[in-house]
Amino acid sequence: MADLYDTVIIGGGTAGLSAAIYTCRSNMKTAVMERLKCGGQILITNDIENYPGFDRVTGPDLSDLMEKQARKFGAEIVYDEVVELDLHTDPKMVRANQSSYLGKTVIIATGGDCNKLEVPGEAEFSGKGVSYCATCDANFFEGMDVGLVGGGDSALQEGIYLSRIVNSVTIIHRRDQLRAQPALQKMAFERPNISFIWNTVVQEIQGNDLMEKLVLKNVKSSEMSELRVPGLFVFVGFHPNIACLKGSGVEMDEAGHVLTDIKMHTNIPGVFAAGDIRQFSDKQLGQATGDGIAAALSAYEYATGASKHH
Ligand code: NAP
Repeated sequence: MADLYDTVIIGGGTAGLSAAIYTCRSNMKTAVMERLKCGGQILITNDIENYPGFDRVTGPDLSDLMEKQARKFGAEIVYDEVVELDLHTDPKMVRANQSSYLGKTVIIATGGDCNKLEVPGEAEFSGKGVSYCATCDANFFEGMDVGLVGGGDSALQEGIYLSRIVNSVTIIHRRDQLRAQPALQKMAFERPNISFIWNTVVQEIQGNDLMEKLVLKNVKSSEMSELRVPGLFVFVGFHPNIACLKGSGVEMDEAGHVLTDIKMHTNIPGVFAAGDIRQFSDKQLGQATGDGIAAALSAYEYATGASKHH
């Protein structure tokens, strides 16, 4: 017989752990399902400077604190990969590789991952020049020249943000046309310190302790070149972790983000989503925390019938 929880939280990243702290402190029996290690995206973030209360903290240290806090209030962290959900029963069934869990409510906080370039040097210099988040890391490159890869909305939105902080942004795009919406293109073209290298891909990222330069290849002429920059921002898409949501009936957008309202309700009663998996998430730590809290309050309301909202 599967164990019954007031809430089963899927994902032990910032959103999931924040939700757990709140559900546990409301005396809800809480399981946090995590496939590998708690922390999610911040595990690969070296320096965090924009999380209120911490002017500098490493991702692993911060996630460790969050996990300890969740455990202290009674969260059971279960290391098991969720593979299937049955959300239309009461209670709901969460099936994982090793066991199954019943939840009066379910909070989906499975997050996602930025697509990688998959080129030599990318993993080695991740956090040492290579970044996937301008909001997080732009300030480390204040007054410097940086490269950026991508031609979609994220690339241009983040590139414009970067251009207000760094000296210059060179956008390297594999085609000669941008995918981004026209309004963003216009803004980017008008910024004097944003320039473009077209029809070009990054072949390798080189450096010593820190990243120092990019090896570039023109895909039309096969011509090789180098760009000496201490930073490279990569925005080539994001993939939400949705494998366990297939067939669950949870509504998602085309890219696989879960649709929620402002209190993190999904289309299925008693099922909530929080953090990077949610549509329109800005993919910020503080926002994942807020999402987790909102989802926890909504789950409490659903499980007990008592409102904590005013
Ligand atoms: P995206 O729209 O999928 O764009 C990814 C970009 O990366 C494309 O330009 C693509 O080039 C390029 N790319 C992909 N793989 C690459 C590789 N291996 N090497 C080099 N370049 C590569 O992703 P996104 O910009 O993250 O946006 C995701 C979704 O969020 C989109 O629907 C977007 O509209 C939305 N979004 C909206 C806003 C906004 O409204 N302000 C802001 C951010 C995101 P190609 O063009 O050649 O395929």
